[in-house]
Amino acid sequence: MKRMVSGIKPTGKLTLGNYIGAISQFIQYQDEYEMFIFIANQHAITVAQDAKELRQNTKNLIALYLACGLDPKKVTMFLQSDVPAHTTLGWVMTCNSYIGELNRMTQFKDKSAKGEVNLTAGLYTYPSLMAADILLYDADYVPVGVDQKQHVELARNLAERFNNRYSPTFVVPTPLTPKIGAKIYSLQNPLKKMSKSEEDPKGTIALLDEPAVARKKIMSAVTDSFACIAYDPQKQPGLSNLIQILSCLSQEPIEEIVKRYEGKGYGELKKEVGDTVYTFLEQLQARYRAIMDSNIIEDILKEGAQKASLIANKKVAKVHRKVGLSLF
Ligand code: ATP
Ligand code: MG
Repeated sequence: MKRMVSGIKPTGKLTLGNYIGAISQFIQYQDEYEMFIFIANQHAITVAQDAKELRQNTKNLIALYLACGLDPKKVTMFLQSDVPAHTTLGWVMTCNSYIGELNRMTQFKDKSAKGEVNLTAGLYTYPSLMAADILLYDADYVPVGVDQKQHVELARNLAERFNNRYSPTFVVPTPLTPKIGAKIYSLQNPLKKMSKSEEDPKGTIALLDEPAVARKKIMSAVTDSFACIAYDPQKQPGLSNLIQILSCLSQEPIEEIVKRYEGKGYGELKKEVGDTVYTFLEQLQARYRAIMDSNIIEDILKEGAQKASLIANKKVAKVHRKVGLSLF
């Protein structure tokens, strides 16, 4: 069975973009692949976090994963910080990453270009830790949204560099991005990615938004004045974003949606998207509340960390031997 690894940072509120671009893929793949899904809490602290909020976000995230349909019997779910092998291999990866390489990572470049002061060293080296997250498990595939593709490329480069310098040690991973839904955009600025940690409440649908509030956001989404329903992300990005959301949630192919709406107005389409999002959130949140009221999360994480550690620790031991860190 091929292996797959992915993670999500417990920062901010999980969005519809995270669901469509990442979680729904995990669910689709969980029967076909051996999956490791972790909560990237060590990546979360690369920007300042309030401890109480981080804890809450982490719990919400796991409950949401489960509510979305991730099955802990099929998927190994754990907290990154519960498996110290991540940072241990992360250090070796940091020492194999070139400064020039990290300088080219667009996420860091974007954040520093915005003139944010007090960017942390952790934020800078986070792609090296992410490489470790992936390489520890010999992942064949890494399902990610478009924004993370560059980081998986770095993981590939680091794997190849290490394999060439020492001897074959790591599987070189391949990023998997969905054909549609790899990038969901802000409802207010369809050129900007919908993001959980950026302040854009009107443009972002959080998975824990009141369904009625979410519907309103869809109804007031920015579109265009072409007055023609077509799927053309370049020319009509706002409208195409809505069609994409509808297609992903209803599983109806984009072409069929467009055909159904021939000659119809944007208002009608928005209403269907709004209603679909409403129902999706309502059902998801009912499952979420039941999970939050139960005590299953602790056990799932404990078991997940034990299972992950077995594999990860073996890999670290191998790496330490090859690098010359361990003596025996
Ligand atoms: P942050 O603003 O904290 O970076 P984020 O929303 O970008 O939050 P991440 O934790 O960075 O979320 O990413 C989690 C997963 O969700 C990744 O696989 C990422 O590619 C995917 N993802 C994030 N935003 C979107 C989006 N708008 N459309 C599709 N996929 C997305
Ligand atoms: Mg992100």
